[in-house]
Amino acid sequence: MEIELREFEWYLRDLFFRANANNSQKFIDSFKKEDIVYTLLKNYLRYRNYEYEKISNLLNTVLTDLHSKSVLMFDKEIDNIKLYSRFDRKQCKKCYYINYLSKNEDIQCSRCSSVEMQEFPPRKR
Ligand SMILES: [Zn+2]
Repeated sequence: MEIELREFEWYLRDLFFRANANNSQKFIDSFKKEDIVYTLLKNYLRYRNYEYEKISNLLNTVLTDLHSKSVLMFDKEIDNIKLYSRFDRKQCKKCYYINYLSKNEDIQCSRCSSVEMQEFPPRKR
Protein backbone atom coordinates (compact mmCIF):
# COMPACT_ATOMS: atom_id res chain seq x y z
CA MET A 1 0.00 0.00 0.00
CA GLU A 2 2.81 2.38 0.83
CA ILE A 3 4.45 1.81 -2.54
CA GLU A 4 1.15 2.42 -4.27
CA LEU A 5 0.73 5.71 -2.39
CA ARG A 6 4.25 6.87 -3.21
CA GLU A 7 3.72 6.05 -6.84
CA PHE A 8 0.37 7.83 -6.82
CA GLU A 9 1.96 10.90 -5.28
CA TRP A 10 4.52 10.97 -8.10
CA TYR A 11 1.79 10.87 -10.76
CA LEU A 12 -0.19 13.55 -8.95
CA ARG A 13 2.83 15.85 -8.84
CA ASP A 14 3.37 15.09 -12.53
CA LEU A 15 -0.24 16.13 -13.20
CA PHE A 16 0.21 19.45 -11.35
CA PHE A 17 3.48 20.05 -13.18
CA ARG A 18 1.95 19.36 -16.58
CA ALA A 19 -1.04 21.59 -15.89
CA ASN A 20 1.43 24.48 -15.74
CA ALA A 21 4.13 23.32 -18.13
CA ASN A 22 2.85 25.03 -21.25
CA ASN A 23 1.80 28.47 -20.12
CA SER A 24 4.36 30.81 -18.70
CA GLN A 25 1.98 33.56 -17.61
CA LYS A 26 -0.96 32.28 -15.62
CA PHE A 27 -0.32 29.89 -12.77
CA ILE A 28 -3.09 27.29 -12.58
CA ASP A 29 -3.23 26.71 -8.83
CA SER A 30 -6.81 25.59 -8.26
CA PHE A 31 -8.00 22.05 -8.88
CA LYS A 32 -11.25 20.24 -8.24
CA LYS A 33 -10.68 16.79 -6.78
CA GLU A 34 -13.21 15.33 -9.20
CA ASP A 35 -11.31 16.78 -12.18
CA ILE A 36 -8.04 15.36 -10.89
CA VAL A 37 -9.55 11.88 -10.74
CA TYR A 38 -10.92 12.16 -14.29
CA THR A 39 -7.61 13.47 -15.64
CA LEU A 40 -5.77 10.52 -14.09
CA LEU A 41 -8.28 8.08 -15.56
CA LYS A 42 -8.14 9.69 -18.99
CA ASN A 43 -4.50 10.69 -19.47
CA TYR A 44 -2.53 8.26 -17.37
CA LEU A 45 -2.13 4.73 -18.67
CA ARG A 46 -1.23 3.57 -15.17
CA TYR A 47 -4.71 4.37 -13.86
CA ARG A 48 -6.85 3.68 -16.90
CA ASN A 49 -8.38 0.53 -15.42
CA TYR A 50 -8.85 1.85 -11.92
CA GLU A 51 -12.24 2.44 -10.36
CA TYR A 52 -13.16 6.06 -9.70
CA GLU A 53 -13.55 5.23 -6.00
CA LYS A 54 -10.12 3.71 -5.72
CA ILE A 55 -8.39 6.73 -7.27
CA SER A 56 -10.50 9.02 -5.13
CA ASN A 57 -9.37 7.22 -1.97
CA LEU A 58 -5.70 7.33 -2.99
CA LEU A 59 -6.11 11.01 -3.83
CA ASN A 60 -7.59 11.90 -0.44
CA THR A 61 -4.77 10.16 1.39
CA VAL A 62 -2.03 11.79 -0.67
CA LEU A 63 -3.64 15.24 -0.56
CA THR A 64 -3.72 15.10 3.23
CA ASP A 65 -0.04 14.25 3.20
CA LEU A 66 0.81 17.05 0.76
CA HIS A 67 -1.20 19.43 2.89
CA SER A 68 0.92 18.54 5.91
CA LYS A 69 4.02 19.31 3.79
CA SER A 70 2.63 22.78 2.95
CA VAL A 71 2.48 21.94 -0.74
CA LEU A 72 -1.21 22.78 -0.99
CA MET A 73 -4.17 24.11 0.92
CA PHE A 74 -7.77 23.01 0.97
CA ASP A 75 -10.07 25.63 -0.45
CA LYS A 76 -13.24 26.83 1.24
CA GLU A 77 -15.22 24.52 -0.94
CA ILE A 78 -14.41 21.13 0.40
CA ASP A 79 -13.59 19.51 -2.93
CA ASN A 80 -11.09 22.10 -4.13
CA ILE A 81 -7.41 22.26 -3.52
CA LYS A 82 -5.02 25.13 -4.13
CA LEU A 83 -1.29 24.87 -4.76
CA TYR A 84 1.14 27.24 -3.05
CA SER A 85 3.52 27.25 -6.00
CA ARG A 86 4.35 25.68 -9.31
CA PHE A 87 6.42 22.52 -9.26
CA ASP A 88 10.02 22.37 -10.41
CA ARG A 89 11.12 19.20 -12.13
CA LYS A 90 14.51 18.09 -10.94
CA GLN A 91 16.59 14.99 -11.49
CA CYS A 92 18.67 13.38 -8.79
CA LYS A 93 22.34 13.25 -9.78
CA LYS A 94 22.86 10.06 -7.80
CA CYS A 95 19.93 7.79 -8.66
CA TYR A 96 18.51 9.71 -11.66
CA TYR A 97 15.02 9.76 -10.15
CA ILE A 98 12.79 12.58 -11.40
CA ASN A 99 11.33 14.69 -8.59
CA TYR A 100 8.62 17.33 -8.73
CA LEU A 101 9.17 19.83 -5.95
CA SER A 102 7.09 22.68 -4.61
CA LYS A 103 8.85 25.88 -3.55
CA ASN A 104 7.94 25.03 0.03
CA GLU A 105 9.92 21.80 0.01
CA ASP A 106 13.59 21.12 0.51
CA ILE A 107 15.50 20.23 -2.62
CA GLN A 108 16.09 16.60 -1.86
CA CYS A 109 15.52 13.35 -3.72
CA SER A 110 12.45 11.54 -2.41
CA ARG A 111 13.95 8.19 -3.35
CA CYS A 112 17.54 8.30 -2.06
CA SER A 113 17.53 11.54 -0.01
CA SER A 114 20.46 13.00 -1.94
CA VAL A 115 20.51 16.80 -2.16
CA GLU A 116 22.45 16.75 -5.44
CA MET A 117 19.79 17.72 -7.93
CA GLN A 118 19.82 19.16 -11.41
CA GLU A 119 17.23 20.69 -13.72
CA PHE A 120 15.41 18.20 -15.90
CA PRO A 121 15.84 18.19 -18.79
CA PRO A 122 19.30 19.75 -18.22
CA ARG A 123 19.73 23.28 -19.54
CA LYS A 124 21.77 23.52 -22.74
CA ARG A 125 24.95 25.56 -22.44
ZN1 LIG B 1 18.03 10.07 -5.69
